[in-house]
Amino acid sequence: MNKAIIIGSGIAGIATAARLLAKGYDVSVFEAAKETGGKIHSFEMGKYRFDAGPSLFTLPFLVDELFEDLGENPRDHFNYLKKNVHCQYFWNDGYTLTAYADLKKYSEEINQKFGIGKKTLEKYLLRSKNKYDLTKNIFLTKSLHSASTYFSMETLKAIVSLKKLDIFKSLHSTNKRFIKEKHLVQLYDRYATYNGSNPYETSGIMSMIQHLESHYGTWIPQGGMVEISKSLTSLIQKKVLRFFLIQKLKKSLLLVIKYQELFQMDNNLMPIMSFLTWTSTIATVNY
Ligand SMILES: Cc1cc2nc3c(=O)[nH]c(=O)nc-3n(C[C@H](O)[C@H](O)[C@H](O)COP(=O)(O)OP(=O)(O)OC[C@H]3O[C@@H](n4cnc5c(N)ncnc54)[C@H](O)[C@@H]3O)c2cc1C
Repeated sequence: MNKAIIIGSGIAGIATAARLLAKGYDVSVFEAAKETGGKIHSFEMGKYRFDAGPSLFTLPFLVDELFEDLGENPRDHFNYLKKNVHCQYFWNDGYTLTAYADLKKYSEEINQKFGIGKKTLEKYLLRSKNKYDLTKNIFLTKSLHSASTYFSMETLKAIVSLKKLDIFKSLHSTNKRFIKEKHLVQLYDRYATYNGSNPYETSGIMSMIQHLESHYGTWIPQGGMVEISKSLTSLIQKKVLRFFLIQKLKKSLLLVIKYQELFQMDNNLMPIMSFLTWTSTIATVNY
């Protein structure tokens, strides 16, 4: 059986564990924190619970897919509802905006608050849609490490349409060119922050990020965002052979080397360590 070691159990680590398990790998997960989920976490204040990391859930079918890969019905583990309002926006100068999921209502709200016509908004949203449609199969569903990704009809189509992708302009200048109203430009600039970018530096192709929200919608998991990682973790923990939640792990590489040594030298140690994780949830391993 092929072995895989995953360091970190944020959503990327969890999703990788699920996919490798589905492919029949012997998976071990190492996590430095007390809990899985990484940036997806929450905290409580009084009787309220707050999502502390991500709060907008898009493309929920991608999470469903992970359950399905593991032969499970997602609805037995994880449920979510579609939101009618993506976000409420507030500006210092007193302007507010309700970003309705319903495009007609959203367009009317924008027109009423900022005087931007339906046609202008439609043009901007359509350009974002085209960017997404032209590149999604190249960047989202294929490996960037595979030569066939670059030598395909889809890539050729994207190259031919290069001008429409606004690759060589900044997101801010792209937004300014199409939207013109300063509050709205700021609103659409903010999508650069979704991947930690600066709208003045990142490429205009990034206007496709908002397309996921405005076109496909946003969702809220029952129990909050943290349920995305919690529900997957509890399923994966039943299937992963070794799942370590380790406190204060500083040198993961060292740990992996030690782990490999242990594994090669004394197979009997691993079941003991697994047993520790199952019984106490947190195994503290000192090296
Ligand atoms: C405030 C905020 C708001 C956001 N809002 C949204 C949103 O609304 N919608 C959205 O889709 N995205 C949002 N994001 C982005 C999203 O949260 C992240 O892209 C995603 O959670 C990253 O997942 P990850 O698994 O790649 O990394 P992380 O979640 O950072 O997970 C990395 C994991 O690896 C562990 N680790 C690190 N080093 C080691 C080591 N040496 N040994 C063992 N374990 C290690 C860490 O403890 C952690 O658990 C937001 C992010 C932030 C911070």
